[in-house]
Amino acid sequence: MDDEKRKSPQKEANRLSTMLRLVLGEERFPVDVEALAREVSRNNEDPIGRIMGGDLPGFEGMLRPHKKRPGWHIVYNDDPRYRGRVRFTIAHEFGHYQLHRPPLCAGDYVSGALQRDCGFECKPLRSNAWRDAERQREEEADTFASFLLMPLDDYRHQVDGQEMTADLLGHITDRYGVSLTAACRKWIDFTEKRAAMIVARDGFALWGRASKSAFESGIFVRSGMPLPDEAFAGLGSNGAGFTSDTPVTRPEGIWSFRCGSEPVRELAMVSEFLDISITILQFDTGAVSVDIEEEEPWDAFDQFNSGGQFRPGGDRR
Ligand SMILES: [Zn+2]
Repeated sequence: MDDEKRKSPQKEANRLSTMLRLVLGEERFPVDVEALAREVSRNNEDPIGRIMGGDLPGFEGMLRPHKKRPGWHIVYNDDPRYRGRVRFTIAHEFGHYQLHRPPLCAGDYVSGALQRDCGFECKPLRSNAWRDAERQREEEADTFASFLLMPLDDYRHQVDGQEMTADLLGHITDRYGVSLTAACRKWIDFTEKRAAMIVARDGFALWGRASKSAFESGIFVRSGMPLPDEAFAGLGSNGAGFTSDTPVTRPEGIWSFRCGSEPVRELAMVSEFLDISITILQFDTGAVSVDIEEEEPWDAFDQFNSGGQFRPGGDRR
């Protein structure tokens, strides 16, 4: 598909989201993405048929062409570690269907079976493991899933400028049926506050992301960055996995970035099951912008990890 014909993932997700709102109103959350994928695709010559869990070592999901007649299957990894990510994975594969698939027709099956190889096999995203075209497709499918499951206007309305707390995050993950990581990542992407998230394992950042305003003030999370010894992510957690229900004020000197150190409000969640921690840092507003010379642009992929198992957007899932 050439660039001129490329569908915008965000526009396509918003189009479907508007349709859902018209039909279901406030009852549309969490989005029943399986029903939506079937309903939207059923008037095509190559609809989505089965959507099922499967044993997919190393893969999160696949969009597979039917071997005998025009149509597609979605398979998602049903390993328990991926459970919180299933809705996002199905939405991601549905994104490939809407945005990237070659439409299949009877002519593709004249010999009795499909001769072309046109499926999508989706791994946890690693920047160094994808060719550029693949990476763009994978990012587009993630963007589609994110906007379909968590429409921006609705998410903004839920948060309404509040500080991020364990309760508010719980509300968001319940409403949209997504993982904590997906919910945090989305918030970081749109909040006007100075905030950052860091997903870590064994005391080192797998990947992280700063909000636009935080980035512009010199906050940049590098993969591989060690967490400070005093970080809450190293502590035990309550039943919901959080080290505290509300962000705790930490003095200057604990969290340091290129721009130096400043007091910060820290909220941390530890998942022993997934063997990761997620830390959200919320900074005071009003810091002066700094010149960022050699860093990546804010929306560059490399602000994320290159080696962690958990893709941005993510475990998300
Ligand atoms: Zn994919």
